[in-house]
This record gives sequence, structure tokens and C-alpha cells, in this order.
Amino acid sequence: MDMEFSAEQRAFREEVRTFLAEHLPEQLREGARCTPTVFAEPDIGREWQRILYEKGWLAYNWPAEHGGPGWSPVERYLFEKECALADAPGLPVLGLKLLGPVVYTFGTPAQRAHYLPRILTGEHYWCQGFSEPGAGSDLASLRTRAVLRGDRYLVNGSKIWTTHAHFADHMFCLVRTDPEAKAQRGISFLLIDMRQRGVTVRPIRSIGGDHEINEVFLDEVEVPAEDLVGEEGGGWTIAKFLLEHERSSSCFAPKLLADVAMLRRVASKEPNGSRGTLADDPAFAAQLARIELDALALEVTELRILAQIDEGRKPGPQTSLIKLVASQLRQSVDALAMKAFGYAGLQLADERPLYGPAAAEPVYCKAAQVAAPRYLNSRAWSIFGGSNEVQRIIIAKTVLNL
Ligand SMILES: Cc1cc2nc3c(=O)[nH]c(=O)nc-3n(C[C@H](O)[C@H](O)[C@H](O)COP(=O)(O)OP(=O)(O)OC[C@H]3O[C@@H](n4cnc5c(N)ncnc54)[C@H](O)[C@@H]3O)c2cc1C
Repeated sequence: MDMEFSAEQRAFREEVRTFLAEHLPEQLREGARCTPTVFAEPDIGREWQRILYEKGWLAYNWPAEHGGPGWSPVERYLFEKECALADAPGLPVLGLKLLGPVVYTFGTPAQRAHYLPRILTGEHYWCQGFSEPGAGSDLASLRTRAVLRGDRYLVNGSKIWTTHAHFADHMFCLVRTDPEAKAQRGISFLLIDMRQRGVTVRPIRSIGGDHEINEVFLDEVEVPAEDLVGEEGGGWTIAKFLLEHERSSSCFAPKLLADVAMLRRVASKEPNGSRGTLADDPAFAAQLARIELDALALEVTELRILAQIDEGRKPGPQTSLIKLVASQLRQSVDALAMKAFGYAGLQLADERPLYGPAAAEPVYCKAAQVAAPRYLNSRAWSIFGGSNEVQRIIIAKTVLNL
């Protein structure tokens, strides 16, 4: 593998850098810096989506024929890296990175024509209805039932931990269509319009005080049969495709390295209690260096996987390794930020969002104000998208052949 970027790739990076400098507004950067959760609030995420859509750079992991810009995996990486360095907000990933590829891979021509443009324009805001009480790691035991009555499915059941369901108007959902079949075979993949009677969303407030996740109750909810994706009973294959995409569609190292740089800036200003700054504290410097080295190693692994994708090879179970290491590093960075801010990092404002005119005044500075909610929120990294234990099992079985 050649680790040097080519002249074209370096020119592309310059183009992205210039675009970000000229078109990423300061209030979106500020919003991203003050967001403690993984997903950006829709007011900043959707605005960034609109800007990228107009530029033609939005669905950068989609093939050009479906509306992507036609970038190579390395160009996608460079784009994400520059976005991380420029404090760009996160995009609404559930539609763009998870559902979009499902629809253009498994959807009918009518589903593609209807849903893909609405994902791109942001007309539809999606959430993911997979997990249920008692069906998280063991997803195949899900019980939400869908029964075909004429030309519609009637859906009954409940979903949990549904990120941004309170903003979403649509949910892609795994349902059980055949309770007699073997667990995985009786599952189907439905697209549900949430703007109807029978759909109830209840908030779950997380440990950091954020409202990001929800319970969703489905009571006699009607879904037109044409909103079944793939075949009835084929939902598990689609779910596996989607989960693999979820783990490989984003690179984690760019944001981690941007946060390491931010911590280094903070450390060069924060007093260390004697006469120097935190950057002079050998224990702190060693911890920061350890995280940086691990993040750089992760970056190389991500680039290696991208090189494989470029050659037409599937990333496969290596994505579990990425997810595991990235989760651990995310939690380490956020824990070190708490150390960096000391007492000032202990504030936990009730108000959300932490940016904009209505935000609470920070006790010390904005970065310190967001440290504790972010630290608490990042506990979730080792749970969502498949817990660390589950990733270790996958690595043990499929990578190490144990
Ligand atoms: C912030 C957040 C956002 C989320 N967003 C969504 C969403 O939008 N849509 C959605 O569908 N889901 C979402 N989830 C749910 C997430 O996918 C599940 O929480 C996750 O799969 C774990 O399932 P569980 O919570 O039922 O825990 P369980 O599966 O009950 O696991 C509990 C513990 O047991 C361990 N464990 C489980 N099985 C094994 C095993 N075989 N061997 C060893 N240890 C094991 C787990 O690692 C974990 O530590 C979200 C979760 C969080 C925290």
C-alpha cells in the first residue's frame, strides 16, 4: 500500500479545504463544537446537508448513478478528514449512510424513485427501528409483528433506543412477518411513515441530560405492501448489509485526531497548578500521546480498508475491529478532556442545545461546558451499533478463527 497521497488527491484536498473555508458558516461550526451527542441536532445537521446537496457533495458514499459525487474511497476519507478539522457538523446519517445504500441495492425501481431523492433533499428524516426491549445484541429475537391484510401490513410492537425518532417522519424497521420460521428467516424490512395514528414516541433522557433516543410504540400501524424492501422474510440479509455499512461507511480517525489537536490547544493554555501549563505535565502529555498514536494507527487501518474497497474487496469483519478501537479511543479522548478542564468540566447545564442564543452561559468556556455531557454520552459508544463484547466475539470467530 502506497501511503502517499497522489497529486490529484492533494489537489482534491485543497478544493475541499477551500470550500469549507468559504461555505461552512461559523454558527454551524459552533453548533458542532457544542454538540455532546453523536448525531447533530437537525437544525445544524440539515442546514449542512442543504449546503452539501447544493454543491453536489452530499451522498458521497453513494454511486454516481444514484446521486453521489463519484468519489473514490480515499477522496471520501480526505473529505471526512477536512470536515473534522473544520468542525463541520454531522449529517443525518440514518437516511444518507444507512438507508440510502439499502434502497439502491435492494429496493424496487419505484422505491428508488420515491425515496432516494427525498433522502437527498432532506424532505424525509429517518430513524432506525431495529432494537427492541429484549432484542439488542440478540436482534434476531425481535417480536414486533407485521401481518399482511390485503395490500397493507398491520404492525404492532415497540422499538427502543431509537435515535432521533422525535425528529423523524419515517422509520426503517425490522419486523417479524413469519413467527413459525427460524428466527432470522421470519424477519422483514419495512419503511414506515411515522406521521400516522398508532405511532407513539416517548423520550429517553440519557445520563448526560440529552434527549437523543426514544421508545417507539406501534399500535395497528398501517404500511402499504409496496413499502416492503426486498422479499418478505429477507429482512435479515438486508439488516446484515446495513450493519456492515454502518461500521464501514464512516472513518473514525479524522474526528479523533481533530479532538487530539483540540486537547493539545487546550493543554497549552490551561495552567497546571504550578508555574506551567497542562502541556508541561508529563502524565497528561503521555496520555495524550498514547491516544494520538492509537488514533494514527487506527487511521492507517482505515486507509488500508479503504484501499481494499478501492480494489473491489469487501471490508468484512475488519470493520468490527475499527468499531471496537474507535469506541475505546472516543471514550479515552472524552475522559482526558474532563481531566484537562478540571472543576470547570464538571458543569452539567440542563438546557439544550449548548449553542445558539438560548444556550446557558458557560461557567468557564464553551469547550469546558460540553466536556461532561460529551464524556457521559460517549459511554454509549461501546453499546450502539453492536456492543464491544459483540465486536470481540465477531473478531475472535471471523478474524482470529478462534
Ligand atoms: C445512544 C444509543 C443509540 C442507539 N440508537 C439506536 C437506533 O437508532 N436504532 C436501534 O435500533 N438501536 C439503537 N440503539 C440500540 C443498540 O443497538 C443496542 O443498545 C445494542 O445493540 C445492545 O443491545 P441491548 O441494549 O439490548 O443490550 P444487550 O444486548 O442486552 O446487552 C447487555 C450487555 O450484555 C453484553 N452481551 C450481550 N450479548 C453478549 C454475548 N453473547 N456475549 C458477551 N456479552 C454479551 C453486551 O455487550 C452488553 O454489555 C442505540 C443504543 C444507544 C446506547
